[in-house]
Amino acid sequence: MKMKRYAVIGAGISGLSVARMLVEKGEQVVVFEKESAPGGLIRCEWVEGTLYHRVGGHVFNSRNPEVLQWFWEHVNKEDFLHAKRHAVVNMPDGSMVDYPIENHLYQMREELREAVLDDLLEMLVAPEPDDDNFDDFLQHRFGKTLYRAYFAPYNRKIWRCSLTQVPLAWLEGKLPMPTVREILAANIGQKKEMNMVHSTFHYPKHNGSQHIADTLAAGLDIRLNTPVREIRKDGESWLVNEEAFTHVIYCANIKQLPPLLAGVSANLSEVDRLDAHGTTSVLCAIDKNPYSWVYMPNEAHESHRVICTGNFSPNNSPHHLPEGTSTATIEFTLQLSKEEILEQLQRIPFAPRYLSHCYTPYTYPLQKGETRGIIERAKQQLAPHRLYLLGRFAEWEYYNMDAAIEAAMKLLKTLHD
Ligand SMILES: Cc1cc2nc3c(=O)[nH]c(=O)nc-3n(C[C@H](O)[C@H](O)[C@H](O)COP(=O)(O)OP(=O)(O)OC[C@H]3O[C@@H](n4cnc5c(N)ncnc54)[C@H](O)[C@@H]3O)c2cc1C
Repeated sequence: MKMKRYAVIGAGISGLSVARMLVEKGEQVVVFEKESAPGGLIRCEWVEGTLYHRVGGHVFNSRNPEVLQWFWEHVNKEDFLHAKRHAVVNMPDGSMVDYPIENHLYQMREELREAVLDDLLEMLVAPEPDDDNFDDFLQHRFGKTLYRAYFAPYNRKIWRCSLTQVPLAWLEGKLPMPTVREILAANIGQKKEMNMVHSTFHYPKHNGSQHIADTLAAGLDIRLNTPVREIRKDGESWLVNEEAFTHVIYCANIKQLPPLLAGVSANLSEVDRLDAHGTTSVLCAIDKNPYSWVYMPNEAHESHRVICTGNFSPNNSPHHLPEGTSTATIEFTLQLSKEEILEQLQRIPFAPRYLSHCYTPYTYPLQKGETRGIIERAKQQLAPHRLYLLGRFAEWEYYNMDAAIEAAMKLLKTLHD
């Protein structure tokens, strides 16, 4: 085949972005999507007039000017609201402390605040710690009191594994890593933290993140309801569900790739060792509140976060909601039955009233010491055949939407003819 023809597998933000970039370069592209709508993890639906983010409560921002420029060239800024994040930590005593917690020690009750201060003063004179995992990092960077009151229980709820297994090297650049001096300065100056990527965010006025997926999908050749069942090398071409292509960009889950592959000798058996976990997202009506996200280290229940999606856009909640009511998604890193959810909701703030729920099995790719090596070895075997990996579960990376777009931009620069 002389003409280049690209198969993109998966119409999440990664597949949609790379497909658009290729089409705009004049390439022929077909996107295969197993579901009935584009979006992947950013998909939303409507339940009883309420916008339901099936995973999370996706908001958009980026620190990368190239990504921002690309994004605003492809969606209309007029269709978005620009909001300031108001995130809080719901402490076990019921109080709310603004996020990030270490910058708002002055909002804590006195006993806890004093203990954190003692830790910080001790850390100032202690020798520089030698951390090599996430658990060490949290204890040494924030002190044992904040670790016990917030970081350990909150992260245990999300990650459901020992934090000592998460290598620190992978976290560099992904987490704020303030020094003791910076923490003290932020508290003394009562400075609002504005460096985090979602300190302010963009959010569609209508239809939540589904609007982003639908806008990027418009005009692309997308085969919905079409799961890819085989990717077979046939001479110089690839046959994807028997249709011929020169290049394949795989944006689905790498653990599901080996049984799809045929006609190529690649040993991907080690991808079996990649671990992830899923999220139960519960759509609820909740008491009205001023927050965007509420983080919950409280061990009295299993949920780690309330995402107040009803506060993201006035169009996300039905107009007939009773006075004093809003809507939200409540997240659990566990697969729960409806009965278990109803039981849990009784101990979660804002009196959540159940509307719907779903479980998504792959939401958080777990990072272990060997994870990056496994992905790199898979890429090295597949790229010479013009089969590329892109996206959160194709690359087992903790990408946000903007990082997925950035990865698509980088991939485009490396494609073989
Ligand atoms: C709880 C949570 C909250 C988040 N919040 C934010 C946020 O606020 N802001 C932000 O920027 N990012 C957020 N993210 C990250 C964001 O969801 C991801 O970066 C992004 O959605 C990943 O997109 P993707 O295309 O790489 O993967 P996916 O969205 O997983 O897309 C993969 C696609 O492949 C399809 N597929 C799978 N197998 C096949 C097959 N065999 N054939 C055809 N199609 C197939 C799937 O149906 C899916 O559509 C959040 C993530 C989580 C888990």
